[in-house]
Formats: sequence, C-alpha cells, structure tokens
Amino acid sequence: MTRTTPPRPVDVEAVFPGLGPHRRTATRLHPRQGVAGPEESSVAGPLLWPADEPWPVCSVPHPRGTGHLLSDVRLRRRIQDGARGRDLTDEERRVLDGMTRRNHVPELGDEDPLPLLAVAQLRTQDVPDLAGPEGHDLLQVFWCPFEVHGPERTIAVELRWRRSADVGAVLDPQPEPPVAGREECVPTSCVVHPERVVEHDYLGLLPEELQEEIAEWEEELLDGEDDTDETDDSAAPASYATYEEYEAAMAASRALEPDEVDYMSDLSIAPGWKVGGFASWHLTDPRPMDCAACGTPMPPLLTVAAVECDGASGSWLPVEDREAADDPRVIDPVGVLLGRGLMRVHTCPADPAHPHRLSFQ
Ligand SMILES: [Zn+2]
Ligand SMILES: [Zn+2]
Repeated sequence: MTRTTPPRPVDVEAVFPGLGPHRRTATRLHPRQGVAGPEESSVAGPLLWPADEPWPVCSVPHPRGTGHLLSDVRLRRRIQDGARGRDLTDEERRVLDGMTRRNHVPELGDEDPLPLLAVAQLRTQDVPDLAGPEGHDLLQVFWCPFEVHGPERTIAVELRWRRSADVGAVLDPQPEPPVAGREECVPTSCVVHPERVVEHDYLGLLPEELQEEIAEWEEELLDGEDDTDETDDSAAPASYATYEEYEAAMAASRALEPDEVDYMSDLSIAPGWKVGGFASWHLTDPRPMDCAACGTPMPPLLTVAAVECDGASGSWLPVEDREAADDPRVIDPVGVLLGRGLMRVHTCPADPAHPHRLSFQ
C-alpha cells in the first residue's frame, strides 16, 4: 500500500513568495512493520550484503555484554503488540518480568569486535532524495546499539554506499550484536513506502524579515478564530492506555481549521523517518553542521524519528492511516528513540564520501 501525505492546508509559497529559495524536497519513508527482501529498501534489514565481504563491526572500547538481549527486545515487542486492547496474561507477565538489563554476554571483552546492527537499506530508485557518490545506487546504514561513542557519547553510525549490480551472492544469515545498551536503539524490521514531499526551512533559519511576516500572518489567522465557535472539550474520550495512544488520537481528530494552521507544524518540516529535506531545531538553537573535511554546510541525509506523527504534526498523517491513527504500529512502527526524539545523519553535498556528522533533537 502506498502512503499519501494530505495536501498542505495552505499553499505557503503563494502567501510568501520569498520562501521559494528555502524549499527542498524530502522523501518520507513511511516505515511499517514487515520484512522486506534483501534487494528491497527497508528498515532493519536484511541487507544486500555480499557473502564474501566482512560485516562491519564496532571496535571502539566500551562495555559490550551489559544491556538487553536483542531476542528479549523483539519478544517483548511481540507480546506487547499482541496484547493491545487487553490485559497481559499471567504467562506473558511472567515472560516480561524475566527480561532484565544485565550482563548477558560476560565473555565479550570491551574491545572485542561487535557486529553492527543493520538499521536501513535505501535504493536511489525508491528514494529520489537519496544523493550519494556518483554511480552508487544503494545506501546501507548501520549503528552500534550502545550510546557511548566519541566525546559526545552518542550512538555510532556507519554508512556504506554501493552499486547493487556488483553484489553477487547475498550473505545469509547476517550477523547482529547479541545485546543492545538500550532497547530503543533496536529497530523493528519494517518495509518502507517512500513518498516525496516539499519542505520549507526551519523558521529560525529563514531571513528575519520573512520570519516576522510569517509570525504576523499566524497572528492574523488566530485573531480570525475569535469569530468561530469554541470547541466542546466535554466530548473528549475519557482515557487512553498510553500517552502514545492519546497523542495519536489527538493527531487523528485534528481537523485543521484555517485558523489552526501553523508554519512550524504544518508547512515547514515533515515528521517521521525521511531522507533529505530540512532539520528541525525546536529543542536547541540551530547548530551549523559543516563538513569537517571541506567546510561545506551539510544537510540531513537521513532523519531517524521516534514518532511518525504526533499531536503537533497531525496534518502529516497519511490519508491511508486515518482509521488507524491510534495504532502504535502507525505512530511508532520502528521502536527507536534517539536523542529526545530525532537523530539526523548529515552528509557532505560536495563529496558524500567525506565523514558524516550526527545531530540530535
Ligand atoms: Zn560500539
Ligand atoms: Zn565535505
């Protein structure tokens, strides 16, 4: 099934022609749980990885054994998915209680090579905003699922570009680390439904004059709201099992009135996993992401998001998901939470082989 972002509630460039130069396309990936073939674009593998090529490993010294078994993380997610809308059975509760964060693999030394986790595989033919080195049509993304690397103590991401036609026999089975430092570093396998959308730059990075015009316009929209009826909050449903379900329900019920349109939420940057587009800096001031090798400003290549949609970004919920907007498999299909919800991999447009950088929000 394809996924279709509803048209933006306002043609913002018609209102602000000055936004034209601050437009960029992004490809929303719309991951949904499922297992793709090794030749397809996907989240969490399997990868089109040559049988005769060594799998990438983490060799940075850090504790390796302590954490969550990947098998436990997956089983826990299966149990929780299966128990949606009902109480856990005693047996399910017993299994979940048995899973703990502890030293599961004591024989792993702090510098033993640890297979990296396959995070995403993207083909340029599926993802039009995927720009890599000349002639390469496939990006493979890995990370070590421990957040202890480098001076900033973050997750360590590795990118591999390749020509898919060069891959002969595919490696099977494919290695993975037995443990993850934190459960939310483990992506659940997903198929993807790439869709190209238009974005406009983060508000705080637009020319000041344009920022002021947008702020005035938003105020005028809000002033117009005084003439309309107040909404009746007493009709709201009584309770939700989790905060995520509440958020999803809010997202679904949010029919956008003209006076509710907001540049940041609806007209600027798409939520969820995506390739290309702009980076949002809503939690920190914008930070320059210049290439360490050549100084070129680096746009985000891949954005990894904790949620595909939330209350504020409800207008981006795909048309096809309207009836399932309270389903965690629509709102958080991948199960990854990095930073406070967003992790971006920035790459150099001058030479995609230059070292990437990460930013978090
Ligand atoms: Zn590591
Ligand atoms: Zn560069």
